[in-house]
Amino acid sequence: MPGTFTHEFATELYNGTVTVNTGLFINGQFVDSVDRESIDVISPVDGSVITKVSIGNARDIDIAVKAARAAFKSSWGLKVPGSERGKLLYKLADLLEKNADAVAAIEALDAGKPFVYAKGQDVQDAIDNLRYFAGWADKNHGQTIETAEAKFAYTRHEPIGTVAGIVPWNFPLYITIWKIAPALATGNTIVLKPSEMTPLSALKLAELAKEAGFPDGVLNVVTGYGAVAGQALTEHPLVGKVSFTGSTTIGRKVMETAAKTNLKRVTLELGGNSPTLIFDDANLEQTVKWVCWIIFHNCGQMCAAGARILVQEGIYDKFLQAFTDAAESLKQGDSFKATTQQGPLVSKTQLDRVLGYIESGKQEGARIVTGGSHIEGPGYFVKPTIFVDVKPDMKIVREEIFGPVAVVFKFKTEEEAIEAANDTDYGLSSYVFTENVSRAIRVSNAIEAGSCFINEAILMRPQVPFGGYKQSGYGKDMSEYALEAYTQVKAVHVNLSLKL
Ligand code: NDP
Repeated sequence: MPGTFTHEFATELYNGTVTVNTGLFINGQFVDSVDRESIDVISPVDGSVITKVSIGNARDIDIAVKAARAAFKSSWGLKVPGSERGKLLYKLADLLEKNADAVAAIEALDAGKPFVYAKGQDVQDAIDNLRYFAGWADKNHGQTIETAEAKFAYTRHEPIGTVAGIVPWNFPLYITIWKIAPALATGNTIVLKPSEMTPLSALKLAELAKEAGFPDGVLNVVTGYGAVAGQALTEHPLVGKVSFTGSTTIGRKVMETAAKTNLKRVTLELGGNSPTLIFDDANLEQTVKWVCWIIFHNCGQMCAAGARILVQEGIYDKFLQAFTDAAESLKQGDSFKATTQQGPLVSKTQLDRVLGYIESGKQEGARIVTGGSHIEGPGYFVKPTIFVDVKPDMKIVREEIFGPVAVVFKFKTEEEAIEAANDTDYGLSSYVFTENVSRAIRVSNAIEAGSCFINEAILMRPQVPFGGYKQSGYGKDMSEYALEAYTQVKAVHVNLSLKL
């Protein structure tokens, strides 16, 4: 029954009762969906049903978009000074901080993330992003341009109106904030569609936004199926922009729908298949720790995972041994256990998909050094897996696996490594390990990807843009660049002389 969901946590890490309202959040209220349907939310740790949430259809989306549009005109947008919008975002960040344990617990339960990481990274990064964009809310000015002696023009950075945020399941809260924070800071209202698999943290955030004092209708959350609620959002004529994070397949569809309807703007953060380049002069001990993060963090369910690991021949054997030892020592298990380093995959579907890739790697002749199987039991756990003897045309090399599976190649020269790194349709991220600064910069310049991390893993910061090249999409989340994606520039021409 849609209504109040209360889940009791009693663990070594967190003791307390967490409540999440499981209705749709529209116009400042939690409501039932029009046809009162709901869907089970499943725990990936043991396959049990955590709760049910309402699922919205096209009619719910229409109600939410109209509420957001009305709020844009009456109580947000250009009606509210940037400084006031910023204050509300700061307040939301403070509330998130105050409720960090509860929100991290929800994320751990719903997405199977280790609680320690959910709190220290997902929730903390979300807070940092909110504060970063709160600071921008009153600083996103236009320019004054002199055009003639008695004439000038000025530009205004105006909000687009109502935007749609469509979010995947791998970082449910964090990616939600990537959408909400710049959208609201720049004066847009938003309708958010979380993944049907991990809807709970977005609903909790809606509750906190209400407490923070955002006017009704500014932030709306409609949980539901992508093909129904997500599709309705991308079709809606009152939506001016879609900010989408998800697969390349659905991203393509979103773009097509936007083009066929009202030509709404689209930014796409899509899949990846990123290269990790390790040169002979890399610091072995540190590199192994970083590479474990690059491919095994969040159970490998990261768009920026550096799954294609290219290792120079001089360090190859030592690296492979140390990497295998590190992979085998990763502790998997219950999200709330302090020692857990890796949780499960998010769903049975994802488990089957990853096991399918592992099977295809074996069939195509790649060799498994470690892992390669499901851990028996009710949850969706897969052992950290390393493949060697891989060839560039194998499916496990060409496609995004989105699980804890690394493919390791040996290379001789820098040129060869760069060529292999760029041999992909994707271009989201890349990683270079070397103590030679000239090489690090040279190689990072040559890689066709939107990010390059030198001697570290995916440490995203709100001040730094993130987004893809090639089929990893376009448009940036985070940083000053994201502001552009949520504003439109008006040029106003002024003739002081009044003369023709
Ligand atoms: P999907 O593309 O399947 O789904 C993403 C979101 O889109 C979900 O909320 C989904 O809803 C929704 N959706 C599905 N169909 C439609 C539709 N027709 N119209 C509008 N929305 C729709 O991706 P996953 O959730 O499986 O996430 C994994 C993918 O996301 C990976 O490929 C990964 O690389 C990518 N990703 C990219 C990131 C980046 O920043 N570049 C970051 C994180 C992930 P529902 O779940 O209910 O079906």
